[in-house]
Amino acid sequence: MPTWLVTGGAGFIGANFVLEAVSAGIRVVNLDLLTYAGNLDTLASLEGHPGHVFVQGDIGDRALVDALLARHRPEAVINFAAESHVDRSIDGPAAFVQTNVVGTLALLETVRDHWRELRPPMREGFRFLHVSTDEVYGSLGASGRFSETTPYAPNSPYSASKAASDHLVRAFHHTYGLPTLTTNCSNNYGPYQFPEKLIPLVIAKALAGEPLPVYGDGRNVRDWLYVGDHCAAIRFVLERGGVGETYNVGGDAERENIEVVKAICRLLDQRRPLADGRPRADLITFVADRPGHDRRYAIDASKLQRELGWRPGVTFEEGIARTVDWYLDNQAWVRRVLDGSYRLERIGSAA
Ligand code: NAD
Repeated sequence: MPTWLVTGGAGFIGANFVLEAVSAGIRVVNLDLLTYAGNLDTLASLEGHPGHVFVQGDIGDRALVDALLARHRPEAVINFAAESHVDRSIDGPAAFVQTNVVGTLALLETVRDHWRELRPPMREGFRFLHVSTDEVYGSLGASGRFSETTPYAPNSPYSASKAASDHLVRAFHHTYGLPTLTTNCSNNYGPYQFPEKLIPLVIAKALAGEPLPVYGDGRNVRDWLYVGDHCAAIRFVLERGGVGETYNVGGDAERENIEVVKAICRLLDQRRPLADGRPRADLITFVADRPGHDRRYAIDASKLQRELGWRPGVTFEEGIARTVDWYLDNQAWVRRVLDGSYRLERIGSAA
């Protein structure tokens, strides 16, 4: 049974990835600090499962990571662990540098030292896969798409910290020969996303009949990818990707934020009409824009499609309907994650 060390596997994408990997027969050692964004509830179905070992800890804790590598001897390390919310990075960038840059550097050094001691064929087969974002490329105008050769131009403290970590991963391949892979993915949505991000936040507020805050004019464009498709892409890259390469991952599903919010309103109106019969789109309220809000992201994922044969399997319309249904069916999960410090309040206004 192959073993993978997954970091940040109690967060949104990491947990979706872990659930799929374990059910596919991979043994996962899951290292997660359990910040406000990490939630063991998401992994409750794996309790007692021999294919899942959960360890609470920091990717920056060299002694801990070294001990885990020595004990479990994974074939791959997949790094999801990060501070991930742009609005939070506006209010407190230091935590983003600490985990995304300093923590990733410590992880890279520990993994490099372990990898150097491996014997063939384990050494040749070993991979370090770093999960990153398309936000490192900055903002687009009305046309064009990000490719793997687009120059980095991060605009928020979050994307700057992710860009720094991507550069360190690249440098560890070029300088030390560490067999790295990097994926830069567009906006994800789907089950188990913490309700501070646009889609679950709007579902929660719309369900409660509360005003639906939309930044600026609502015309900012994101390229949406269903989380299961992202997890599948990571598997493709891990198993078939060229060492030292980077791959863009995207869903070919560009939507303006306002379109996304209206789609959620329509789905909820069909499934749970408001008592007074009002359409939920009436609840949309435009609020002051996020400072430095990137206008448009769009991903050219043709390298991943052409070279590795990956394609997204879920359209935006299917994915958003599945997501709304998942949140309707899992209100207890939402209530439990909200028992923490986050209360659906506005953060990141830089005021
Ligand atoms: P998330 O915030 O939901 O989860 C992050 C997880 O990392 C949490 O479980 C948290 O407890 C853990 N963590 C934080 N600091 C840690 C540390 N120092 N040591 C160990 N664990 C720590 O994030 P997500 O949305 O699942 O994103 C996962 C990764 O994918 C991130 O690297 C993010 O940059 C990247 N990404 C996210 C998106 C998206 O749309 N969400 C898109 C592209 C890339």
